[in-house]
Amino acid sequence: KMNTDLGQHILKNPGVANAIVQKANLKQSDHVLEVGPGTGNLTVLILKAAKSVTAVEMDPRMAAELTKRVQGTPEGKRLKVLLGDVIKTELPYFDVCISNTPYQISSPLVFKLLSLPNPPRCCVLMFQREFAMRLFAKPGEKLYSRLSVNVQMFAKVSHILKVGKNNFSPPPAVESNVVRLEPKNPRPQISYEEWDGLLRISFVRKNRTLRANFLGTSAVVDMLASNYRLWCAQNGIPIDDGPAGEEEGDGMDVDQDVDQDGEEEEWNGFMDIDDEEELPDFFKGEREKRKKGNPNRKKKGKVTELVREKVRKVLEDETQLAEKRPRICDEGDFLKLLYAFNQEGIHFG
Ligand code: SAM
Repeated sequence: KMNTDLGQHILKNPGVANAIVQKANLKQSDHVLEVGPGTGNLTVLILKAAKSVTAVEMDPRMAAELTKRVQGTPEGKRLKVLLGDVIKTELPYFDVCISNTPYQISSPLVFKLLSLPNPPRCCVLMFQREFAMRLFAKPGEKLYSRLSVNVQMFAKVSHILKVGKNNFSPPPAVESNVVRLEPKNPRPQISYEEWDGLLRISFVRKNRTLRANFLGTSAVVDMLASNYRLWCAQNGIPIDDGPAGEEEGDGMDVDQDVDQDGEEEEWNGFMDIDDEEELPDFFKGEREKRKKGNPNRKKKGKVTELVREKVRKVLEDETQLAEKRPRICDEGDFLKLLYAFNQEGIHFG
């Protein structure tokens, strides 16, 4: 009996299993990590082509079945089964990762794999179709999102094959695709926290201009101002944080943006956020505040005003990306933004 809460959909088509393993280009010397081996249909194929397999499985019944399957065979000695949640497990070094991924952990698994201190040479992973398509979506395509930019910064992504739901038992609700991720080596010298922090803000609403996303709500500027105070403190830069002269004009820039576009778009805090992704903390409650006309308007400090001006300067003067919409910005645009913000002492991490 399968536990579909754990994403247990066993791959029953040997042709697909063979293709997955083949596309990993395994060498006989490779150490392989398999995530969610289940009953071991992929595991036995990997063991034939590699030196050793570490398989991380959450379900003790599955782990027991797999152990039994290879018991007493020569391959059995080259398999190590770790029981537990792969996201919380400390992983040994491995050259290649192969997984018919339990879909609930798609996003955290990708980031875990890409942020390892010694990333693997390659990962061949099965995902549900829409998630897979986000991984390789290019600027301007419908599924282009924060996930696309993030992953493509740190890895080369290629599409391997489509897999219909009837190749699984029981069949899942959605179709699947297999993708290959080859982490860039050397790893780009860029802080993951900074990069992801910039993208989180940029992609809150990917059809709006960068100006609207950065300056349209006070939440973003407030957050960047508090990072700026910290950064100044850490770098011994004195700041004058007295009350600013004028009242905060909350939401003004967004209204302007709507006028310019002529397109009305209802504020929905979760718009364009990947299903598995959380809205950044500083956005929570923003919608409520806007509805009520933000009764908490208060005089903001000089630092907040300074940071607002720095953000404007970066978007308008230095990068000239203020009017561009994130859904068509490429990696180069985001790198340019990050560099210009950092030059101004604005940090996202
Ligand atoms: N590899 C097998 C195959 O292709 O037939 C089974 C794949 S099935 C889609 C996913 C497997 O991952 C299940 O065996 C499930 O118990 C396991 N699993 C689910 N969540 C997990 C987690 N967080 N860590 C490790 N394994 C997990």
